[in-house]
Amino acid sequence: MLYTTVTSSQKKSISLVAHDNMKKDLLLWCQKFESKLAAHKLYATGTTGTLLGKNTNLTINKLISGPLGGDQQIGALITEQKIDMLIFFWDPLEAQPHDPDVKALLRLAAVWNIPVACNQASADFLINSTLFDTEYEKKIPDYENYINSRT
Ligand code: PGA
Repeated sequence: MLYTTVTSSQKKSISLVAHDNMKKDLLLWCQKFESKLAAHKLYATGTTGTLLGKNTNLTINKLISGPLGGDQQIGALITEQKIDMLIFFWDPLEAQPHDPDVKALLRLAAVWNIPVACNQASADFLINSTLFDTEYEKKIPDYENYINSRT
């Protein structure tokens, strides 16, 4: 694979997702860091987004609920480079009906070099990083060269 570099802006597009047993943790985390998060563009899957919208003053761009396709919507936004970060509190102790979608989302985040937090501690590290509020240059797959090399 060939790679190219892109710069993500100071204002990040951040996706927020939590499985049902983890939604309370994500809500508490968002409330704790509400002022920091407010400076960025936020996306969330349907139920997570509704919960966050009702219990914070954050503006959330709500997608479809995860099991109905919301995880895939976030994955698609990642491939379009419209998402810079994924905060995804997935449930390590309960099977999910949409497990293939969860795996696909995590895979795309890895492909497109998106920072991912899977729990409160990793989210704390991300949000307290100096890179959280600054421009960041990163390597992503070079689609133009990829397609030219195959056609
Ligand atoms: P939800 O989806 O926010 O609609 O519950 C989360 C998920 O399970 O991916």
